[in-house]
Amino acid sequence: MNTETLLEIDREHLWHPYTSMDNPLCCYPVESAQGVKITLETGEELIDGMSSWWAAVHGYQHPRLNQAISDQISKMSHVMFGGFTHRPAVELAQRLLKLAPDALEKIFYSDSGSVAVEVSLKMALQYQMSKGREQRTRFATVCNGYHGDTWHAMSVCDPENGMHSIYNNRLAPTFFADAPQVKYGATWDRNDFNSMRSLLEENHQEIAAVILEPVVQGAGGMRFYHPEYLVELEKVCREYDILLIFDEIATGFGRTGKMFALEHAGVVPDIMCLGKAITGGMMSFAATMTTATVASVISEGTPGVMMHGPTFMGNPLACACACASLDLISEDGVLEKVQHIEKILTEGLRHFSEYKMVADVRVLGAIGVIEMKEPVDMALLQASLVRNGVWLRPFGKLVYMMPPYIMTASELQSLIAGVDKTFKEVYKDKI
Ligand code: PMP
Repeated sequence: MNTETLLEIDREHLWHPYTSMDNPLCCYPVESAQGVKITLETGEELIDGMSSWWAAVHGYQHPRLNQAISDQISKMSHVMFGGFTHRPAVELAQRLLKLAPDALEKIFYSDSGSVAVEVSLKMALQYQMSKGREQRTRFATVCNGYHGDTWHAMSVCDPENGMHSIYNNRLAPTFFADAPQVKYGATWDRNDFNSMRSLLEENHQEIAAVILEPVVQGAGGMRFYHPEYLVELEKVCREYDILLIFDEIATGFGRTGKMFALEHAGVVPDIMCLGKAITGGMMSFAATMTTATVASVISEGTPGVMMHGPTFMGNPLACACACASLDLISEDGVLEKVQHIEKILTEGLRHFSEYKMVADVRVLGAIGVIEMKEPVDMALLQASLVRNGVWLRPFGKLVYMMPPYIMTASELQSLIAGVDKTFKEVYKDKI
């Protein structure tokens, strides 16, 4: 099949994320990916600034990850987790327990980040039901959050830029506090927590849990907020026995400069969701971790079991791959690598703040964000980025990058230079 035919069939039959079937955005056919480079069927080579949406932190075709999968596939690729267990699942648990805060010692495996979020919400509901608090059926969160696209996950996403507006009143009603305003690195102002404090004080009898992304709000705006917000939040949650859920699906495994973003605040939640980088982006897999207390309360209630059990729960291939990915994360000096990327991004992106159409430039760990004053024309910008050898996927007002941790200084410089060239091409006189 030639590339034109491939693209024709794709256009005619395949939906892509958040796109129209009748009027789809341009799609680039990928032939292969290796290290930090993605090769298109047209022969162009792109430097990957996205880690395939925070996931491919070790780059593509990492020999250790490939080997782990091929070793496992020769034994079994899948077997049901109901009634069976296996070495990859248990060995992954050992690695997660070593990396995560000590208190989070019970693990529920699932197949994607959104499902891990659904599981966390169900855990919280079952916890409150077991405690006899039948009226605690709702969740609280902050504006500008994002937790996935499945049904209840959508209900705790930002009410404006999430999908609430299009689904109108069809999603479960959620309590939304103002988004944290005090930025990471700025001086903390306790008033920033007022909206959430009063929301919890007034409605705690209806709230099962608060869910939020610690320190970095990703798809809801790429905002970096003050960790002290989480310290305040923990206190109030404890006071009312509201469970605290941290969604570390994007931030986990080093991305913000700490193994988990919660470490910026020193706060341990009751439940933590992990995904994306857990398998180094090789396959879809996620985990929801919780405390012995939450697990026992659920187990002591009715029906006394956690009511979730996906077909591909604990998939051995994904577990084996995740073991290899977490070994690389533990051995590979990941935090030093992220620190190095942070330094280069900070220096390399600084001059973008002088461009007239740029509102803000910010960097935390291996995340670099250029926030524009106006929403970008994604298709136009992306076409130019591709011409300049760079793979990014801007959205809204944001042109952002979260490169694989293995990216070298010179590759990072090329990535930044490609973005700069694109800005000069697309914005010409407005620069
Ligand atoms: N939570 C956060 C913070 C995310 O960034 C994402 C994915 N972008 C999800 C949940 C959902 O994960 P998935 O796409 O694997 O379902």
